[in-house]
Amino acid sequence: MQFIQEAFKTNWISPLGENINQFEKQLAMKVGIKSAAALSSGTAAIHMALKAAGVEKGDIVFCPTLTFAATANPIIYQDAVPVFIDSDEKTWNMDPVALEEAFRKYPQVKAVVVVHLYGLAAEMDTIMNICKKHGVSVIEDAAESLGTFYKGKHTGTIGDYGVYSFNGNKIITTSGGGMLVSNNEERIAKVKFWSTQSRDPAKHYQHSELGFNYRMSNIVAGIGRGQLKVLEERVKKKKYIFEFYKRELGYLEGIEFMPINEWNEPNYWLTAMTLNGKIKPLDVMEALEQKNIESRPVWKPMHMQPYFRSYDFIGTDVSENLFANGICLPSDTKMRDEDLGRVVDTVKKLWWT
Ligand SMILES: *Cc1c(COP(=O)(O)O)cnc(C)c1O
Repeated sequence: MQFIQEAFKTNWISPLGENINQFEKQLAMKVGIKSAAALSSGTAAIHMALKAAGVEKGDIVFCPTLTFAATANPIIYQDAVPVFIDSDEKTWNMDPVALEEAFRKYPQVKAVVVVHLYGLAAEMDTIMNICKKHGVSVIEDAAESLGTFYKGKHTGTIGDYGVYSFNGNKIITTSGGGMLVSNNEERIAKVKFWSTQSRDPAKHYQHSELGFNYRMSNIVAGIGRGQLKVLEERVKKKKYIFEFYKRELGYLEGIEFMPINEWNEPNYWLTAMTLNGKIKPLDVMEALEQKNIESRPVWKPMHMQPYFRSYDFIGTDVSENLFANGICLPSDTKMRDEDLGRVVDTVKKLWWT
């Protein structure tokens, strides 16, 4: 509220001002990267990352199939062609083996988008090695994983570009917003130019390039500055929620929790698990629903989506199985032990009857 009031008091109610400058600077410092551009959404940040990486009409872009549609849509905004890559059971994220296969089939690929789903880091060392060998830019969609570390580094800072989202459902929020980060300061400056309608430095309104209206408002950035202060606290609570569920439900027949690898220090954005026995995700979702408790399925793979059906998919059935058997439990940081207990009791009852 203090940062927002400051914006009003100083009359910087625009996509320009001190809150934006400070939010960019402080987030860049927190994750350990040189520069950042505050944008209107994570989706806009992915779009600008693709453009900054030189993705143009007809270019091929590799993209994980198991993700939210917002990862793949900007590839279409650029008139490029997504090729969907399967998940690895070990990480739930992009399978390096399927990625290698995709490189053999499409050696002309222009960029690779990697997602860190539910706050779990993808296997970045292996993925980066493969992409470096082919000289291809890597964009990390870290929309769900702000606060996640991969081998001591923040997700979003390992590839050429990183994307964070501050949508209402993310670990910290500005109500809506996103951030593009990179160590390439020239590219980030270019993104700020594109996202303010590509206005040439001239006395009149002159445009030599296509522009976008993608900058974050100074009011919204004020919320972001405040939210940055609670990130670590949120991660701690999210981890507590995951461990609560795992302790209470982990022993039940067929339940397997999302994989936490030793090189992975997740932000535990959502607690997700798979059900491989006779009780199915729909049974759990319905039982919770009867108690007025919301839960969610795991993302439906992009190669199974009507809109993306015509694009190629490389892999086997890993992401399809995660979709068929996966469920996300309520993971809000405001949940008390009592609330978590209600979820746990409702789920357990399905095993008793
Ligand atoms: C939320 C999300 C996005 C999009 O972010 P917005 O700020 O909502 O546009 C992109 N990718 C993933 C994986 C997300 O979960």
